[in-house]
Amino acid sequence: MPLTGIEIFKLLPKTNCKECGVPTCLAFAMALAAGKAELSACPHVSEEAKAQLQEASAPPIRPVTIGVGDRALKVGGETVMFRHEKRFENPPGLAILIKDTMDDSEVDARLERFKQLQYERVGLILRPELVAVKDESGDASKFEALVSKVKQNSDGGIILMSDSPDILAAGVKACADRKPLIYAATKDNLDSMANLAKENSCPVAVRASTLEELADLTTKLTEAGINDIIIDSGSRTVRRAFEDQVIIRSAALAKKFRPLGFPTIVFPSEMTDDPMKEAVIASMFVAKYGGIIVLSDFQGESLFPLLVERLNIYTDPQRPLATTEGIYEIGSPDESSPVLITSNFSLTYFIVSGEIETSKVPSYLLVMDTEGLSVMTAWAAGKFVADAIGPFVKKSGIMDKVKHHKLIIPGYAAAESGGLEEELPDWEILIGPREGSNIPAYLKAWKL
Ligand code: SF4
Repeated sequence: MPLTGIEIFKLLPKTNCKECGVPTCLAFAMALAAGKAELSACPHVSEEAKAQLQEASAPPIRPVTIGVGDRALKVGGETVMFRHEKRFENPPGLAILIKDTMDDSEVDARLERFKQLQYERVGLILRPELVAVKDESGDASKFEALVSKVKQNSDGGIILMSDSPDILAAGVKACADRKPLIYAATKDNLDSMANLAKENSCPVAVRASTLEELADLTTKLTEAGINDIIIDSGSRTVRRAFEDQVIIRSAALAKKFRPLGFPTIVFPSEMTDDPMKEAVIASMFVAKYGGIIVLSDFQGESLFPLLVERLNIYTDPQRPLATTEGIYEIGSPDESSPVLITSNFSLTYFIVSGEIETSKVPSYLLVMDTEGLSVMTAWAAGKFVADAIGPFVKKSGIMDKVKHHKLIIPGYAAAESGGLEEELPDWEILIGPREGSNIPAYLKAWKL
């Protein structure tokens, strides 16, 4: 049973030193009990107390890693029902399905799509993580050969899918060093699957037909010393599967019910034959609360929106994506090139820098730290105003790079031009476009 806040408090140093970021040890204990803080935030807790607090400080949904190295996927570790309460921690993995009854050309095409469908957005590479290899032939050697091919031709994590422990063992043999997810242990094969997972130190998925049965199976696995578990409630209708996700998350978080405190796997691929409907169902599980989402195939028009949705939902709402403050040179500028300034909200930076690139006018872009706020928000919050911009421009080093003193400010900050002329008396302040899309035309007309 998890410890209560008061029980945790008794084990803390009670010095109220505030180093954990909250004012008192009691407040920290309460946050720990609610799964909203991590024990590592307190540097003074004794080793003895640490051991006792391990259970209380463990995330209510266990983090599980599939795969190895740079491409390892960590799912679970969630502590809240709603993103605005704190943040969601580990984005769900997206998997493409490959069956051992598919012909070679289809397998090759899917592996190629898995590799090729990746996108750059706000400086990040968005791409899927997993290949789910499914046994339909009932032939262990065929399954093993396909798993070997997937391993050789993709760097992603691997899910091995079969109801037969023997066939799964053949698949594990081909890719054990990649720590695949073994899918799935059921009430009929639990012992064999548990042994396979244990012998190869691989995570294992559990499938049941009811949540009670699921909890029973995970309890048996944890008693056998297996903790890296992914759970499948077995529901294959949209409504039931959605309800299960909410019940599982709620039971793990609100009730601290450990047998359901594991990441989930969901199969939009088994809920419809319509690819667009499948993408819509998948988008629902991105938001609530899929850990791994298996799709029947990947196509750019459905995968890209899912990747962007995932990025948006799994960014920390308390920390906007920000770009590092500094001078960005776009297209080899020289001492006569224009100098623009903007805020360090990543989306603003990528839009403005993209439009400067489009203009083909080599330029300097000054990115000022506005704590990740966009130009208008930063201006309204007093962070992108003359008495902040002036000192930043002076210390930025831009004066050593250009022979002119002309600064182009965003049109939305036009009200600061007067103040900037006072802050930067040697500079001419030019008011640039309000919208990024007008930057190319503006720069093409640039004259020193
Ligand atoms: Fe108490 Fe530890 Fe927080 Fe200090 S860092 S206030 S000792 S819980």
